[in-house]
Amino acid sequence: MAEPIQLQSRTITGHRPGPHLLVIGGVHGDEFEPMLTCRRLLREIDAAKLSGRLTVIPCVNEPAFARCQRTGEDNLDLARVCPGDVNGSLTQRIAAALAEHIRAADALIDLHTAGHRYRMLQLAGYSLHPDATVLERQRSMARAFGLPVVWGTNARFNGTSLSVARDALKPAIYVENGGGATFDPAGVELNVFGCRQVLRSLGMLDEPVESRPVRYFVEDDRDHSGHLQRQHPSPAAGFFVATVALGEVVTPGQVIGHVTDHLGDACHEVVAADAGVVNFLRIFPSVQAGDALLALLPITSPGEVKYKRQKDEV
Ligand SMILES: [Zn+2]
Repeated sequence: MAEPIQLQSRTITGHRPGPHLLVIGGVHGDEFEPMLTCRRLLREIDAAKLSGRLTVIPCVNEPAFARCQRTGEDNLDLARVCPGDVNGSLTQRIAAALAEHIRAADALIDLHTAGHRYRMLQLAGYSLHPDATVLERQRSMARAFGLPVVWGTNARFNGTSLSVARDALKPAIYVENGGGATFDPAGVELNVFGCRQVLRSLGMLDEPVESRPVRYFVEDDRDHSGHLQRQHPSPAAGFFVATVALGEVVTPGQVIGHVTDHLGDACHEVVAADAGVVNFLRIFPSVQAGDALLALLPITSPGEVKYKRQKDEV
């Protein structure tokens, strides 16, 4: 049997009883603001003012961080192999250890960025959980976090920290804030604020939840909602340059970028498959055929929209 993985974690035990919140960063090794957010929480959350327990894992995927990559050497995406396998490859064993932490907690915040090849709108997301109580708790955690996009997607997506939480009936959100191979201290500040807001919303800090405006609120229960890598795959290997910006509203058929060869002779136009707001955009020009270039949030003006699961979907 393989050596079990011990994730580097720390718990702040409050002076009063309450729920157990788990906050994690570094599921992907090239996402840095989440790691520092976690360390800030350990220094700033005062046990004397805390009801319940806060457990923090700043860097879940240490082998991926050491490689400066999204994944470890086995190239398995930790956000696709949960709940993992204690006898599997290194990433699968990390997933198994993470799943144990999630099951031991009462609620989860999984902090991400878009990684070094992409940028993304700042958002808090959750699954459209079939249990109404869990769903409502997730909605309120995501709204409380305070980012401009709140995005509920279908709960049938497997392999993630959120799917482990879903199966254990634990309220969970994920956060996307940052990306593009940079490190943004302002992103850390927003994340620390957001985590405090969730602690407030869970009754773990005796402070009022501050109201922050949500620009786009989308709940989309259609299959593949939230699966960014499926939308707008590159038609060829080459050099990708977008012609739209993050946050821009596009119409179906609009040209959103080009993939060219090095002389610019072969030029593939990439067009928007639907209407929506650009919420995920590749900023790394070297692409292989099939690489995700762009994803859209299915909304075209500030406000709320909900999509039900389509009948012909299985
Ligand atoms: Zn990530």
